[in-house]
Amino acid sequence: MDIKLSKPFAANSAVDEYDVKQIKKALNRLGYYQPFEKVGITGIPDTAVFDALKAFQKDQGLTPTGTAKPDDETVKKLSAAMRHKSSGKYIWRTVGYSKVRTSHAKLNGTLRDFSDSPDPGDDYNCRCWADPIKDKQKYSAHKEKTGLNQIIISSPQQSSYKWNGVNFVEHFYKGKGRAVSLSEIGLLSDVISHARSIIFKRVEKQIEKKVKTIGNGIFTDSFSRSYNFGSVSFSLGNSTVKGHIQGNVRKLGKALSVEAQVEYLFFDQFTDPVSIRQYLTGTSLTNKVDSYTEMGGTAYDIVGRWLTKVTGTVEVAR
Ligand SMILES: [Zn+2]
Repeated sequence: MDIKLSKPFAANSAVDEYDVKQIKKALNRLGYYQPFEKVGITGIPDTAVFDALKAFQKDQGLTPTGTAKPDDETVKKLSAAMRHKSSGKYIWRTVGYSKVRTSHAKLNGTLRDFSDSPDPGDDYNCRCWADPIKDKQKYSAHKEKTGLNQIIISSPQQSSYKWNGVNFVEHFYKGKGRAVSLSEIGLLSDVISHARSIIFKRVEKQIEKKVKTIGNGIFTDSFSRSYNFGSVSFSLGNSTVKGHIQGNVRKLGKALSVEAQVEYLFFDQFTDPVSIRQYLTGTSLTNKVDSYTEMGGTAYDIVGRWLTKVTGTVEVAR
């Protein structure tokens, strides 16, 4: 199977569902990705698929970015690896709910060879996957069977225009202190992407700790901390990210099954156009910024919000 991406594949961009399925299927075959059992292979860009892609890239001597573009080296190497992987045993897995087509339900749990036909995940809506019986330790390092998985569930909609330094300064002088949202200034997905790399794991750890204490039932928790988002935009400095966690944990044998929703609230304030002027000195934008600075400015808030869903299992503390 050759992989044909229709869009860039990255955690912070609006990815194509079918692209996600192709990459998941390939990484599943190659032993890097195991889907969450209850949902199987879906077009949802969960954290595990990006982690799995990084691991694959590392093994292939590529920079482990966890991202890919149509026909780039990563896609070529994935396609090549899939062509070589023509034999080997696996167990056919289905998500085990009533929508699974009968022919696939019959295959559930059977031992198959990768060269056999049909192939799980070939049909457009099929969520079945292969559970390879070789390379067990290879994918146990990237397992999703225990551990938490976090995906964005709020709308990623935002303005297609990203604010630059001039826009931030202009609003300081003309906006009369009106707060702006990250989605209106086109920076929501960049902020989420940065948050994914610096905050998500911490929140998952917090949830893990919490559910181990609770053991069973409904739980809530919260956090608040400042983080530097300067790499997203130099107009953002130390921003505060607060969060509310609401979830429920059930004991399932030796594990705890977790389902939680996290609301992230981002807050920053724009107070200092001087630093932006310094940043823009010598560029074609300096004059534009200077034309505003005769007026009195007002500080304003920059706010943002997104929701994630955290699911998975945590081993019971011993
Ligand atoms: Zn199926």
